[in-house]
Amino acid sequence: MNKENIQAFGNLVERADRILIISHTRPDGDAVGSLIGLGLIFEELGKKVNLVLEDGVPKVFHHLPSYDRVFREAAGVYDLIVVVDCSDIDRIGNVLDDYGEPDVNIDHHPTNTCFAGLNLVQETAVATVEIIYDLAVALSLPLNQSIAEVFLTGLLTDSLGFRTSNTTPKALRIAAELQELGADLPFLYRKAMGEKSLEAVKYWGLGLSRINLEDRLVWTSLSLEDRKKVDYPGRDDADLINLLASIKETDISLVFVEQKNGTVKVSWRARPGFDVSKTALEFGGGGHKPAAGAEIKGSLEQVQEDVIKATRHALNGTG
Ligand code: 5GP
Ligand code: MN
Repeated sequence: MNKENIQAFGNLVERADRILIISHTRPDGDAVGSLIGLGLIFEELGKKVNLVLEDGVPKVFHHLPSYDRVFREAAGVYDLIVVVDCSDIDRIGNVLDDYGEPDVNIDHHPTNTCFAGLNLVQETAVATVEIIYDLAVALSLPLNQSIAEVFLTGLLTDSLGFRTSNTTPKALRIAAELQELGADLPFLYRKAMGEKSLEAVKYWGLGLSRINLEDRLVWTSLSLEDRKKVDYPGRDDADLINLLASIKETDISLVFVEQKNGTVKVSWRARPGFDVSKTALEFGGGGHKPAAGAEIKGSLEQVQEDVIKATRHALNGTG
């Protein structure tokens, strides 16, 4: 991030009074952490802040400060609209339908389409919270224990507990700073990643019962019926993809989750040396080389067939 961009961000914030912050549908820890953390910083500066996630905050993050202050719709007039952790504007859902182009886009996905007036995109950041933390330090913005807790959650979840290949010494240093601000790392790890609800594990069970492995590609699916059967409240895969990715005999893993609106949410994971972001991009999604996703129109069967074919192509091309 260059100095001009940092200063431009500082100027926009200084001039704004009513600020809207949004992130993506099916929010993860980085989306929630970036949203709440930036919101709390702005509030410390005396701004009026609205936090909006179309899907709300998933239960797994209900231990975080201010999680109950996140709404599902924007309302009113804003001087500044900031989108965090979104590589393209479609990923926020319909929140901005009655509003114009967002003013600021803060993100770390290499597939970011730079859709805002000011785009603060840094691919080397392990999580978007890292970029926001850097902005806060560069502009001497206030930090406190609550902000540290949500930021550390974003770092932990996007790096799978500092295990992903893009984990840097810098990310670990920031984590240490956040601990010193009062964030309890083992507690935050356990709540966001170490604990699963019984429904989630039963839901995994259904997905695992029909797992496929063929030539180093592993995949499974979760249907709307599965979700109903075990009462799983989310519309995601309950992180089943990361379990599949741990299977030794694979290079690429895939999970297909049927959605109510006639689409299928696809998650890809790849070992170092493979790039699944390009395949995700082909299907209108995005992400990083080792982890990507897309929401694709079509039936579960059709989307599986198309995506497996394209992924197989990528696996053979780069493997
Ligand atoms: P996940 O599979 O855990 O949902 O996401 C893996 C990565 O891909 C994350 O970095 C996430 O932000 C990105 N991603 C997931 N779904 C989508 C999508 O529908 N569109 C875009 N652009 N990125 C996605
Ligand atoms: Mn992220």
